[in-house]
Amino acid sequence: MASINEAKNIWMNGKLIPWKDATIHVLSHSLHYGNAVFEGVRAYQTKKGLAIFRLQEHTKRLFDSAKACLIKIPYSYDEVLKAHVDLLKSNDFKNTVYIRPIAFFGYGTMGVSNEGAHNDLAIAAWEWGAYMGEEALKKGIKVKISSWMRSAPFSMMNRAKSSANYFNSQMANFEAKQAGCDEALLLDPQGYIAEGSGECFFIVRDGKIITPLNNTSLESITQATVIEIARDLGYEVIRRPITRDEAYIADEAFFTGTAAEVTAISEIDSRIIGKGCMGEITSKLQKAYFDIVMGNNAKFEHYLTYIK
Ligand code: PMP
Repeated sequence: MASINEAKNIWMNGKLIPWKDATIHVLSHSLHYGNAVFEGVRAYQTKKGLAIFRLQEHTKRLFDSAKACLIKIPYSYDEVLKAHVDLLKSNDFKNTVYIRPIAFFGYGTMGVSNEGAHNDLAIAAWEWGAYMGEEALKKGIKVKISSWMRSAPFSMMNRAKSSANYFNSQMANFEAKQAGCDEALLLDPQGYIAEGSGECFFIVRDGKIITPLNNTSLESITQATVIEIARDLGYEVIRRPITRDEAYIADEAFFTGTAAEVTAISEIDSRIIGKGCMGEITSKLQKAYFDIVMGNNAKFEHYLTYIK
């Protein structure tokens, strides 16, 4: 999808090392058996310099994901927070930054069992703008409901940001693109809408904002932020199941996520949503979200970790 803008350094197992040296062995356990957990975090260029948005919540989720997936992060929570800051200080970023910490089983053991596997932690960061392009942020995207469903809670752990879950996401995203759409929307095993391949889903009906409440989606930080922003702007926000036909007839629909930010949805399965462009409420929420991450709203400044 997006090629990587190489940066200077990567933090790996406690050290800042040159980007090109941050490599792993082909017999790394996670590469074969699919157990790794990661985060997607963003840092924005604010008036007071580069600032990471909700670093504490992302780091807490990284530790929670690792716990659920039996991965031990060999550093404390505070050390991981500091590693993010050290990494950004050691690079020379001029634009929006995407940060990817990943905890995985490295080299040294083979076989399905994770017993005795080496616990590695790496944090990379590079410049990455709009996830689906600037045009998508302005106009909205076309979405296809996937033939793939989110895994049942007795099969996988969707609350964890686990690499293994992204096989399901990748297949859904491929299918959507093949069908001429930009992104997939996945249902849960009950047939209600779960989430996008890498985003949470919202609709607007009669001025009210609705987003799913289910047990087959990631516990999302942007979704929580957008709910908080919406309530702050005086909107009613309801968390309840959404069916696909309700999505088709919504007045507005949008995705949220650290990478996707607030992205309007203009079409779902060839049904035009609202006027087929970004709706009024989506537009207000997108503007408010960007104001907050860019440090232009003092009320939400506590979510920013300034780098310098
Ligand atoms: N669901 C999935 C499957 C995701 O990959 C993401 C992106 N991390 C989200 C939802 C949104 O989560 P967040 O807002 O915490 O980035």
